[in-house]
Amino acid sequence: MSQRLLPIVIVGARGRMGTTLIRNVLESDDLALVGAVDRTGAPGVGQDAGILVGLPPVDVTVGDRINARPGTVVVDFSLPESTERTVERCVEGGLPLVLGTTGLAPATRSRIEEASTEIPIVYAANYSVGVTLLTRLSALAARALGTDWDAEIVELHHRFKRDAPSGTALRIARAVAEATGRGEDAIVTDRTGRSTPREPGEIGVAALRGGASVGEHTLMLLHPDERIELTHRAYDRSIFARGALRAARWVSGKAPGLYDMADVLGLSELA
Ligand code: NAD
Repeated sequence: MSQRLLPIVIVGARGRMGTTLIRNVLESDDLALVGAVDRTGAPGVGQDAGILVGLPPVDVTVGDRINARPGTVVVDFSLPESTERTVERCVEGGLPLVLGTTGLAPATRSRIEEASTEIPIVYAANYSVGVTLLTRLSALAARALGTDWDAEIVELHHRFKRDAPSGTALRIARAVAEATGRGEDAIVTDRTGRSTPREPGEIGVAALRGGASVGEHTLMLLHPDERIELTHRAYDRSIFARGALRAARWVSGKAPGLYDMADVLGLSELA
């Protein structure tokens, strides 16, 4: 029975997402936690991963480097500074990677693309099934309505979130741009100091920060006479953990490539 469990390593182990992921892995009946990794010197390193998340000990000590056998899937929700190190380690070990860290620099994104010629990588700015669907619906709606309708995105996240706007808001903006034949330069994240009206075709993105919101995203499609709003609200970060672990099951044994959550859900082939 235990031989059929899929081995998982969690990177960013003591973070908000890391602890949720560890709990979800330990509570699943088809996954086995074989490693938990955090920053060198971080509190929690050296502790049992079960105890770290408030459960009984599981005989997995939180370490500061990925050390895993082939066949193990690495799930990394940590900080952009650690992403390249995780990617290198996965390439060295031939380990599939599910990456959730947002706010990545362009150079890190290029490295991920390069690495995906050697190992399978799922990278999604948002692992929620609902947001994946919202992104697809946004593209469909924007395409159907055309650029005559103004597209504006507003997002709200908890006071501790570091990057703004959220990776998800940018992903929705890109999906709208792509679906309507616009480039990334249509996306506007700051209108401070402008003294001109909204440019036709621009896609505005506004970020709100505060409280404990797990994440809310709304795409507004605005016409002078009517308006459509598509909203997703996350109430618990376990939705991201469940989605990421669904991606981990899916990516195990896949060919090298860069995949996203739409691939995991089989939505990629839909227009
Ligand atoms: P957090 O600050 O609570 O946790 C980050 C963890 O990473 C901390 O434990 C930190 O010590 C650890 N860390 C830092 N440097 C490290 C290193 N070199 N090696 C290993 N671990 C290291 O953050 P969080 O709220 O858990 O979010 C983590 C990341 O996941 C953020 O980028 C966030 O935006 C992203 N996120 C993505 C999704 C998604 O669906 N893609 C959902 C939620 C959060």
